[in-house]
Amino acid sequence: MPAPDVQAFNTANWSLDNSFLVQLQDPGEPYEAACPFYVIDHPEGTVVVDTGLSHEMLDDPAGYGPTGAAFMEEFLPYIEYDESMHPRAQLAEAGYAPEDIDYLLLTHLHSDHAGHVDLFPDAEVLVRTEELRHAFWPVPIQDLFYLDGDFMPLRSPEFDVTEVAGEYDVFGDGSVIAFPTPGHTPGHQSVHVDLGDEEVILAADVAHRKVGYENGFQASFNWDLSQSVESLREVKSRARRTGADVRLLHDRGDTNALR
Ligand SMILES: [Zn+2]
Repeated sequence: MPAPDVQAFNTANWSLDNSFLVQLQDPGEPYEAACPFYVIDHPEGTVVVDTGLSHEMLDDPAGYGPTGAAFMEEFLPYIEYDESMHPRAQLAEAGYAPEDIDYLLLTHLHSDHAGHVDLFPDAEVLVRTEELRHAFWPVPIQDLFYLDGDFMPLRSPEFDVTEVAGEYDVFGDGSVIAFPTPGHTPGHQSVHVDLGDEEVILAADVAHRKVGYENGFQASFNWDLSQSVESLREVKSRARRTGADVRLLHDRGDTNALR
């Protein structure tokens, strides 16, 4: 089987109260979360997984998208980013143009995962139906995490959006499989990648730090806590069955391990 390769690129560092990320653990202690995206290079095509936090939004939150995101101004002192961390710059340095990307696989549409979707009008976008519905019509509190400036481009006829249900085998060879892991959001999905000599599960926000993953401590703002716990068990059992390494998106150790 042709073996893909996976790399991580960080778009911003967001310092958050640890107890926000890992429920009730170390309140008041900051944790500097990474906001990366991944590139999976497969012999038959290139996949970008998530797109990080929008720099355009960080530059001007109130002017971002149809309704703006002025409330994000409160977070700006805690977010570090610069031009070299923009996905366009990082892709160029790694030898890719946005047009080279064949698939854009979105684990979910939270602002720290879907910030640069507009860079990829030539890619086929793979996102779960439940996530699209929830992003466009979120419930209270959840609406803080969904910025319509991020995902409005998906409504443009320029974009080719495939609504994914169940497991989705991107190349049809078992090497890159998206599978549902709802809970953090209704349409959250994770990605199992078979690299030939090792397997990796990009588990996104199934948990926010390794300590949360290991102990089953979820983020309190998750959409559904019992589904979150079930999805975490599903990832753990897959990892046991296949020997895959689990990489959480915001855990700095996990992001660094992929680089
Ligand atoms: Zn999230």
